[in-house]
Amino acid sequence: MGGEEPVRVELELGPIAEAEQKADALSVGLALRPEIACEGFLVDVREEDGARRVGLLADALARRGLAAPLSVRLPADKAGLAPAGAARLVIGVTEDASDAELTGAAQAASRLGVPLEWALEVRGAALASLVDRALEASRRASLLRVLISLADEPAAQGARFVHDARLVAARLAARGAEAVPIVLRGGHGPPAPAEECLLATATDLGALLCDGIGDAISLPAALFGDAGRTLDLGYRILQGARLRTSWTEFISCPSCGRTLFDLEQTTARIKARTQHLRGVKIAIMGCIVNGPGEMADAD
Ligand code: SF4
Repeated sequence: MGGEEPVRVELELGPIAEAEQKADALSVGLALRPEIACEGFLVDVREEDGARRVGLLADALARRGLAAPLSVRLPADKAGLAPAGAARLVIGVTEDASDAELTGAAQAASRLGVPLEWALEVRGAALASLVDRALEASRRASLLRVLISLADEPAAQGARFVHDARLVAARLAARGAEAVPIVLRGGHGPPAPAEECLLATATDLGALLCDGIGDAISLPAALFGDAGRTLDLGYRILQGARLRTSWTEFISCPSCGRTLFDLEQTTARIKARTQHLRGVKIAIMGCIVNGPGEMADAD
């Protein structure tokens, strides 16, 4: 993740006990979208028993054909529970986390030989000093593979996710750490109507990705009550930001006085015959005068 690697999409499965119970529903939901592969899962662990079951959950997912890397999220003061076999550790960090806890978390990741993602749980100006403290703790533990993440809470009062993510990116750059991958976590916070949540998640994450901020996006599998739909949203955000072309993309002009045929009907006919062509951009233009210029972006 990061650098020249493509932006990844991960699904958050919630607490491990729930993830175990929902493994069947998850595989059914994702099987409905065979054209898109989930590139990672994240599970929450808060106690020793849960940490012991991470390997079993990874096996259970693999048996259902869902063999993507399984990462584990823990609060900073529980980093000692970090289980072997996790693809990476995601450590939730609040302003109250002590430097000793941050260093302990970085040492746990270093001991397991896995990357550590600092999941920043503060907002606004406080982010800069937390970025500094997380980088410093990583340095103390000689941990090289570090990520930073921020969660979007569209329905939360005073939410300023895009602004905060830009602030984090600027702080990393100021500290000479611009290569640290940033994970954008969408769809968090108080519940909101599905359409509102979809719009906010797509615009917030999409705006940042278009700015070049974000190396992975992570969405709760249960965001729309259907993991397949959530995964589909992840890929559509990437396609909208021109970071990945997974579907046939149709670029149609709005038509105007120059159009001498039924553009809508023609577009529908072309779509019906070409939408199986994955990763191709097809422009359907209404005239020969401006059309060639307007379709310059197409294949
Ligand atoms: S491509 Fe031609 S028909 Fe379509 S909007 Fe532009 S000028 Fe009008």
